[in-house]
Amino acid sequence: MSASALPLLPRTVTRLDAPDDVAGASRRRGAGLHGLAVADIDRAGRLAAMRTGELGSVHSWELVTAVDGPGTRLTLFLNGCPLRCLYCQNPDTLAMKDGVPVHADAVLDRLRRYLGVFRATGGGLTLSGGEVLMQPAFAARILRGARQLGVHTALDTSGYLGAHATDRMLEDTDLVLLDVKSGDEDVYRRVTGRELAPTLAFGERLAGSSDIAIWIRFVLVPGLTDDPGNVARVAEYAASLNAIRPGAVERIEVLPFHQMGRDKWHELGLEYTLEDTPAPTHEQLELARAPFRARGLLTY
Ligand code: SF4
Repeated sequence: MSASALPLLPRTVTRLDAPDDVAGASRRRGAGLHGLAVADIDRAGRLAAMRTGELGSVHSWELVTAVDGPGTRLTLFLNGCPLRCLYCQNPDTLAMKDGVPVHADAVLDRLRRYLGVFRATGGGLTLSGGEVLMQPAFAARILRGARQLGVHTALDTSGYLGAHATDRMLEDTDLVLLDVKSGDEDVYRRVTGRELAPTLAFGERLAGSSDIAIWIRFVLVPGLTDDPGNVARVAEYAASLNAIRPGAVERIEVLPFHQMGRDKWHELGLEYTLEDTPAPTHEQLELARAPFRARGLLTY
């Protein structure tokens, strides 16, 4: 899942070679593993190294601007996710086993190349997925290394596995992009196959921290998540986090559902249930943004 001010579109990640330079980085880049050394390691060694966080299961990375946090960012997509969102744009990231083994040090080497760019644009690193908290040790190692390099860090997460995030990991995190897929428990379960409570609890934990910024993202799916009562609950929840720590929620991004992930579902032989679901209109999006704005939340 991803977001940007313009356009506000969930992203489809593709394994293509990403370029080494960042010229024109304000345009969307293809994602790939280019430049990231792939570990040559047997299965037992791989599992042991994944436990310590030296190694992760990675789908791809890309450089983006005004997506996944402020400035120009290196976004790393990890494999593995416990949710099964009906509108998932990247079903090829769901299984951990489908990722490629990559050393945390290789990610940090890649990060070093862009220090000047991050400084110039106010950008940094975003760990995304899949679900980044499926691989907490790997994520923690990269966040620590990024922090030591002085790089701004962000986690893009559903929060479902928030309990996997250690306090130390959160100390090394500047921003969390928290995907709240529904405010209503039943709708959340219909959308994701899982329960809502862990996400809410994780957001509250973040709001209770001293200084982690939170951006809440909500995908508007006509006929699925767009009931006004459901949207109002997400808005109420976001406002409740600011009641815990004023200013904790820096922004809301209401993202339009679209069909860009459909082909991947078909290619993977998965049952896609949103074939006939249209993208929301501009009016529907603005209507959904209204309850957030009414609560004083900066909303895109
Ligand atoms: S949280 Fe949902 S949308 Fe994001 S990767 Fe997992 S299944 Fe896909």
